[in-house]
Amino acid sequence: METPFWGPDFDALTSTDPEIADVVLGELERLRGGLQLIASENLTSPAVLAALGSTLSNKYAEGYPGRRYYGGCAQVDVAEEIGIARAKELFGADHANLQPHSGASANLAAYAAFCEPGDVVLAMDLKQGGHLTHGSKVNFSGRWFEPVAYGVRADTELIDYDQVRDLALAHEPRLIIAGATAYPRLIDFAAFRSIADEVGAILMVDAAHFVGLVAGKAIPSPVPFADVVTFTTHKVLRGPRGGMILCRAEHAKAIDKAVFPFSQGGPLMHSVAAKAVALREASTSDFQDYATQVVANAVALAKGLEEEGMRAVSGGTDTHLALLDVRPLEVTGAEAERRCDAARITLNKNAIPFDPAPPATASGIRIGSPSVTTQGMTEPDMAEIARLIGSAVRAEPGTTAGDAALAAAADEVSRLATAHPAYPRNSG
Ligand code: PLP
Repeated sequence: METPFWGPDFDALTSTDPEIADVVLGELERLRGGLQLIASENLTSPAVLAALGSTLSNKYAEGYPGRRYYGGCAQVDVAEEIGIARAKELFGADHANLQPHSGASANLAAYAAFCEPGDVVLAMDLKQGGHLTHGSKVNFSGRWFEPVAYGVRADTELIDYDQVRDLALAHEPRLIIAGATAYPRLIDFAAFRSIADEVGAILMVDAAHFVGLVAGKAIPSPVPFADVVTFTTHKVLRGPRGGMILCRAEHAKAIDKAVFPFSQGGPLMHSVAAKAVALREASTSDFQDYATQVVANAVALAKGLEEEGMRAVSGGTDTHLALLDVRPLEVTGAEAERRCDAARITLNKNAIPFDPAPPATASGIRIGSPSVTTQGMTEPDMAEIARLIGSAVRAEPGTTAGDAALAAAADEVSRLATAHPAYPRNSG
C-alpha cells in the first residue's frame, strides 16, 4: 500500500552514495553483532528515526512557535508546541526549550542566560566525573568563566557536600552545577539547593546522563530543586541526538533568548519533532518499566563485575552506569577497553576518583545498561555479560590462550546479541 510519508529510502542512498550506504549498513551490523555498554548511548525507536529522517530537516524556523523569522512554519510550529507541552507535563516543569542542538549547546545557553564572562562557576571536577562544559580549560566554560571544582570524598567516593558548601561560601559562585558524566550515585538535589540559596547562586542541574531515569520515574527528579535543568535527549531518554532545557517560569525568557538568537541559529526541526516523539514514548508505563530495568541491570552488572575481581567505585550504582576500577586485574582502563572491543563489547576507559593514571590510560572502565536494556536483556543476561567482560579483560592478546579466550568471548557475545537483537530484522 502506498504511504503518504516521503522518508528514509535506503535504495536511494545505495544508488546515490554506495560508500555512505555501506557505512550505515556497517554500523547497523556492528550494533546487531555486539554489546553496547557505553553509558551515554541508547538505541532509538523506529518512530524517532522516522521523524529524524523526515522532510522537517528542510525547514528554517529561526525563532519560536508563532514568532518565527521565516514563513511556512505552521507544521513545524505544531511539532515544537507538542514537544514543549509534553516536556512540561512529563517533568512537571514551568518551561521547556527543545531547540539546543546538543548537551554542550544547552549548557552554553544556560551559562549565557545567567552569567557574564569572568563569573565564578562551581561544578564537579572533570577528573572526578564532571563534564567538559563544567569548567574544563579547553572548553568555553573554563576559558570564559572562573571554574571552581568540587569532588568526591576519598573514603566513600560520594560527592563531598561539605566541600561543595565550603567552596560556595569561599568563592560565592554565580552558578552552581550539579550533574556529571561518570557519577554512579543519586545526587542530593536538596543539599545543592540549600547551598545555592545560602550563597545566592543559580542552581543548574546537568541531567544529561540520568534524565531518562527521571522521566521513567526510577529516580528522583531535580526539577523541583533547580532553577534550570539541561540535558541531552539521546542517552537513557532514548531520543534523537540533541539537547533540551527546562526552567522555572521566571527564567523562561532568559533561557529562550540564550538559545536563540544568542548561541544558535535555526533549530533542527526534524530533531525537535523526534524529541517530541521520544517524550511521548517516555511518558508510557512501558518506559517506566524500562527505566526500572535499566537500574536493576546496572546494579546486576556492577555486582557481576565485582565478582570478576573489579572494584565498583562507591561500592555500586543507583543509576544506569557504574565505574569499575580494573587495577585488581592488573590492566589499565585503556587495555580493558581494547580487550573488550576484541570481544565485541563496546565500553569506555574512564578515570576513577583520584586516579594516578593519565586520562588516556585511566584505571577504570565505565559501563552502562541503557542499550542492552532496550534490547530486552535482564539480570541473568547481565551476569553473563559480566562473566564475558571478565574473561575478555583477563585475556592477553597475542598469546595463544588470550586470543582463544577473546575469540570464545566474541562468539558468546554474538550469541547473546542475536538472542536479543538490536533493530530486529524485518521490523521497523
Ligand atoms: N553534560 C553531560 C553531563 C554529559 O554527559 C554530556 C555528554 O556526554 C554533555 C553534557 C554534552 O552532550 P553533547 O555530547 O550532546 O554535547
